[in-house]
Amino acid sequence: MLKKIVVGNWKMNPLSAKEAEKLFTGVAKEISTIKKIEIVICPPVLYLEKLKKLSKKMILGAQNVFHEEVGAFTGEISPGMLYTAGARYVILGHSERRSMGENNLDVNKKIKASLSAGLRPVLCVGENMRDEEHAYFNLVKTQLSECLEGIKKTSILKIVIAYEPVWAISTTIDRKDATPADCQEMAIFIRKVLSDKFGSDAASVRIIYGGSVNEKDASEFLKNGAIDGLLAGRASLDVKKFIEIIKTCEA
Ligand code: PEP
Repeated sequence: MLKKIVVGNWKMNPLSAKEAEKLFTGVAKEISTIKKIEIVICPPVLYLEKLKKLSKKMILGAQNVFHEEVGAFTGEISPGMLYTAGARYVILGHSERRSMGENNLDVNKKIKASLSAGLRPVLCVGENMRDEEHAYFNLVKTQLSECLEGIKKTSILKIVIAYEPVWAISTTIDRKDATPADCQEMAIFIRKVLSDKFGSDAASVRIIYGGSVNEKDASEFLKNGAIDGLLAGRASLDVKKFIEIIKTCEA
C-alpha cells in the first residue's frame, strides 16, 4: 500500500534562497519520528539543487514543467531537468496555472512527459464554484478524463490526485471554507471515475485534499474526507503549522 502523503506548495515563495533553506531545515529538523507518510516540498525550482542536499527524508517536487525534454523552448524547464535538480514529484494542473491559460490537453502532455522522466505527477482538479445542479461533478470528471487520456493502467498508481476546490483556496477572493463532507463526496466521486477508467488499481490511487488546509482542520479532513493526504499552500510556509499538519497525518 502506498504511504499517505503531505505536499507543501510554496508557490512563488520565499524571496531568497536563504529563507528557503531556513524554512526547509526548520521542517526537516522536526520530522525524525515521522515514518508512515511521505513529505513532499514543492519550492520554486531555483531552490531545488540547494535543498536536495539538506534532507534525505523530505522529498522535493516542482510546481510545473514543460512537456518537451530539450530544445528551443524559451523560458521552459523539462521533466528531465527537474529530475536532475532533485524533484521527484511535480504539481500539474494547479488552478493558478489554469487561470493563466493552461488547459486539460496541456496538462495531459505534461503528465506523460513527467512520467517518462520518472516524476510523479500531483494532478490538481477542482471546480471554481459549486452550483445547485451539481454541474461541478461533471467538470471534475472532464478534467480527470482529459488530463488522464492515454495514461496506462501501469502508471496510474504513480499519479496523486489533488482535489482543490478553487473557491476554498486561500488566494481566492471571497473564499469559503470547504467541509470534510464536501471533500468526502468529491473524493468518492473521483475514485469512481478512476475505477471506471483504470479498474481495480484505482482503489490504491492516492487522492488528497487542498484548499486552505491548516493545523486546526487537517485532522477532520483526514478523518472524514475519504482522502490519503493533504496539499497545503499557505500553511506550508509556516514551519509550526506545517509540522502540525504532518504530525496529524502521521497519527
Ligand atoms: C494550493 O493553492 O495548492 C493550496 C493548497 O493553497 P492554500 O492551502 O493556500 O489554499
